[in-house]
Amino acid sequence: MNVLQVSAEIFPLLKTGGLADIAGALPAALKAAGCDVRVLLPGFASIMADLQSSCVLAELTAPWGERVVLRQGVLGTLGLAAYVIDAPALYCRPGTPYEDAQRRPFHDNHRRFALLGWVAARLACGLDAQWQPEVAHSHDWHAALTPAYLTFGPVQGKRVASVYTVHNLAYQGVFAPNNFFELGLPNAAFSVNGLEFHGQLSFMKAGLYYADHITTVSPTYAREIQTPEQGCGLDGLLRSRAHDLSGILNAVDETVWNPATDAAIAHAFDANKPAGKARCKAALQLELGLDARSDVPLFGVVSRLTEQKGLHLVLAVLDELITRGGQLVVLGTGDAPLEAAFKARAVAHPQAVSVRIGYDEAFAHCIFAATDVTLVPSRFEPCGLTQMYGLKYGSLPLVHRVGGLADTVVDCALEHLADGTANGFVFDDFTPAALSRAIRRAFALYERNSEWFNVRQRAMQQPLGWDNAAAQYVALYQHLLG
Ligand code: ADP
Repeated sequence: MNVLQVSAEIFPLLKTGGLADIAGALPAALKAAGCDVRVLLPGFASIMADLQSSCVLAELTAPWGERVVLRQGVLGTLGLAAYVIDAPALYCRPGTPYEDAQRRPFHDNHRRFALLGWVAARLACGLDAQWQPEVAHSHDWHAALTPAYLTFGPVQGKRVASVYTVHNLAYQGVFAPNNFFELGLPNAAFSVNGLEFHGQLSFMKAGLYYADHITTVSPTYAREIQTPEQGCGLDGLLRSRAHDLSGILNAVDETVWNPATDAAIAHAFDANKPAGKARCKAALQLELGLDARSDVPLFGVVSRLTEQKGLHLVLAVLDELITRGGQLVVLGTGDAPLEAAFKARAVAHPQAVSVRIGYDEAFAHCIFAATDVTLVPSRFEPCGLTQMYGLKYGSLPLVHRVGGLADTVVDCALEHLADGTANGFVFDDFTPAALSRAIRRAFALYERNSEWFNVRQRAMQQPLGWDNAAAQYVALYQHLLG
């Protein structure tokens, strides 16, 4: 089965969050499950630099008149066949893939990402005579016009099935309505039964409306986004598509996230030889100037510092955590007030709190390896990967019971300890008091050494690899192709 994966990011070449991790791991998992997978990506500098044996497949004129080149080659790092839109004027700029250096969204983001869907639809119509997808699987709002262009594009040969995966419904790609007329879609598409969203143009809505099937990255999130509380204004549409909506839980790329083989961490370890974990903790405490204590729990946060992630709750309970003897290490970047608040706490308690503002892939690995608990108190969480990395690295996740966090973490309540399913700490109310109670449970278990080690060992042995998720995607593709 020929599958085209369409996304804006791909690990390890370009990553701002979990989307990249999935886009980087899913193709290999699908290949292992028997699919012939190619990816379509925007030509950001790091992606162009990794593209090997490339040749020009086509020169194209975008609907708004801009000339772009479509290259074809192999991503050297991933050994993956790729189509890349070579358009430096659109993609090679300072800043993030989506924002300039002042964190303002680029004025032409609608063009930069419409192109992904537009090119995907051309590939679906036979642009490459050697290879034609049977399934076009697009990810998040950046690639969400793919199903719309497939719906309205010229149909040649067999119809291509479209799957659209929502990694985070909160980021919707909403633009002023006048931009619609640059996209080359028929006027009929700009309606309530289409891309129009409260008078604006919504890329997310295009994906949700036109895709043959919608997936989200966890079963619980698939249910949650059909409610007014979590539907971001799109719950009505999602309810109307409930029969074509399902959740497939993300997984962990064990070639990247494995404490037994991880070159980024100070000492290797695994569930049966955990000694290296204590050494990782000591090494990190020394490096960060934290008290060199093996007998107190070290909590970790690796996260975007945004409202979604619930980190104001951590700030609210931090004094208590410190008073109980705990330590905290934070790696993150995002909203300036959150960055400032965490930095101030590190200055006030240098032996108990360490905060690094920034994005640092290797340091993230060190934090999961060294910490005892990974904090993920998100207000909402489509899947969440850091709690799964915490499990793999024996850093028990402490999470708010939402989305994929609810699907992956089982609280260390007595009954779950008794039946051997406990692997972390879960709280229900999104309040400092509820987080504080979960933290107290973590301290209580930490004091019972042997129970802690048992839970940690089971957590590290939990199967989190991609085989299961890949099998579910393949079954879905097969179902859609009839
Ligand atoms: P989201 O996609 O909402 O940011 P996820 O938990 O799904 O959240 O994925 C986050 C990914 O980004 C994980 O791989 C995590 O390790 C990584 N990450 C987040 N912040 C940082 C950071 N400051 N430095 C390094 N990696 C980070």
